Amino acid sequence: MTLSPATQTALADAAGLFRKARHVVVLTGAGISTPSGIPDFRSEGSGLWSRDEPLEVASLNTFRTTPEKFFKWFRPLAGQIYYAQPNPAHTALAEFEHAGHQSVIITQNIDGLHQKAGSQQVVEMHGTLQTLSCTGCYEHFPAEEFLKPFIENGTIPQCLICNGILKPDVILFGEQLPQAAWQTAQRATRQCDLMLVAGSSLEVLPVAGLPVQALDHGAHLIVINNTETYVDVRADIVITDNVATIIPEIMRRAIHG
Ligand SMILES: [Zn+2]
Repeated sequence: MTLSPATQTALADAAGLFRKARHVVVLTGAGISTPSGIPDFRSEGSGLWSRDEPLEVASLNTFRTTPEKFFKWFRPLAGQIYYAQPNPAHTALAEFEHAGHQSVIITQNIDGLHQKAGSQQVVEMHGTLQTLSCTGCYEHFPAEEFLKPFIENGTIPQCLICNGILKPDVILFGEQLPQAAWQTAQRATRQCDLMLVAGSSLEVLPVAGLPVQALDHGAHLIVINNTETYVDVRADIVITDNVATIIPEIMRRAIHG
């Protein structure tokens, strides 16, 4: 891989900030999982919206009124998530934490790839596909045994106790963010002295506001994304490139000097 001299300097500077930081927060979005083959399902033009009405099909309202419509839309996405593997960006972030650094990941993704890569401290702002909850009796179930029949045969997951429809524990449009996760995210943001935004265009509130909170508390800010974000002007370092190539380079330098 050939990196420009400007990028080399940015990588070295970013690694220096990571080495010095005592509390790191990494805010990740869809862009960190696209190299693992998962489309950005919140973005128009990702191929997932064009088949149905934008936003509406992934809403709580659709799930409640016509769950079969929701599940039909969700099935290919669930398949891509189920079979996806962490990419070098996920792995490098986990290695940084394992090297003894205090590091919290706040993610907008529902794919569980940070955990698959070995990260311990992960705050999921949009829920997870790893568990399902019954819409009838509210019992929780691990997704494992329901996902495969759903993905392969379209079998809509049903409660083993009351036969109610099981809803993936992902936050749909029209749903509140999980309060506990949001409070954890805000606390970590206030405490951090370095925030890395990785693969998020920072377009979905309120998570998109976290980098400004970090800056207001005196933290350094690094943004790595393939498009511009609104906080680039206030960031210490901005690298507009692929997270799966850039983050491992930074972490290698940060961990090994
Ligand atoms: Zn039930």
